[in-house]
Amino acid sequence: MGPSYVDFLRERRLELEARVADACARAGRDASEVEVVAVSKTVEPEGLLAAIEAGYGRFGENRPQELVHKTAALEQAGLAESVRMDMIGNLQRNKINQVLGRAQLIHSISSAHLAEGVSSRAEARGLRQQVLLEVNVSGEASKSGFSPADATRAFEGLLALGGIEVVGLMTMAPAHDPDAARRTFCGLRELRDGLERRGGCLPVLSCGMSDDFELAVEEGSTLVRLGRVVFDQGYTLD
Ligand SMILES: *Cc1c(COP(=O)(O)O)cnc(C)c1O
Repeated sequence: MGPSYVDFLRERRLELEARVADACARAGRDASEVEVVAVSKTVEPEGLLAAIEAGYGRFGENRPQELVHKTAALEQAGLAESVRMDMIGNLQRNKINQVLGRAQLIHSISSAHLAEGVSSRAEARGLRQQVLLEVNVSGEASKSGFSPADATRAFEGLLALGGIEVVGLMTMAPAHDPDAARRTFCGLRELRDGLERRGGCLPVLSCGMSDDFELAVEEGSTLVRLGRVVFDQGYTLD
């Protein structure tokens, strides 16, 4: 990675932070409430190291194999302690052990069955894994996650699992439809507020990607997961 790529990443980061701060201001929120997770799934470890040099400190991967690969690269570079790595993608039960101990936060707990699997494996290793429940707020058949009704039904049982700590919710919005995206983010926040009345504390809302993060921030997101807009020089902000 040449110095010019680091320069691009740094300038883009400052632009993104300014956009997030503006969205916060529009919503009367404090900019410190929102954190960017740089989704590094499309770049090699060199790209991730360049992003660290450019000032990013938190990353997301969507495949367990890549998470293993990238965390190994971080360890080799002596950066494993200073950088956060999150698991944001579909997780199969037979891959749970690859993710435990490597991901600080798993965004993508999409069923009670998966929650139980993560919990029991974490308990066996003496860990308490922080997780988010992935909720299919928009109801699109192509998306995984709890339906809002299922999340509500399962919630108390999930809070009782000893190996996980549920700290919030995650969703993905429909693409290319800003109104539907806003409704989705708003629905996630309302679901969170409803669940908190049943117990637990769910401060984290993981929502917003390259095409819709400003809407997500306006609707209460605390973690925006940004891939293309961070790493892709061909992606232009409008
Ligand atoms: C790839 C990915 C992102 C980032 O998407 P962009 O549109 O590139 O910002 C966010 N969340 C998940 C779960 C992803 O798989």
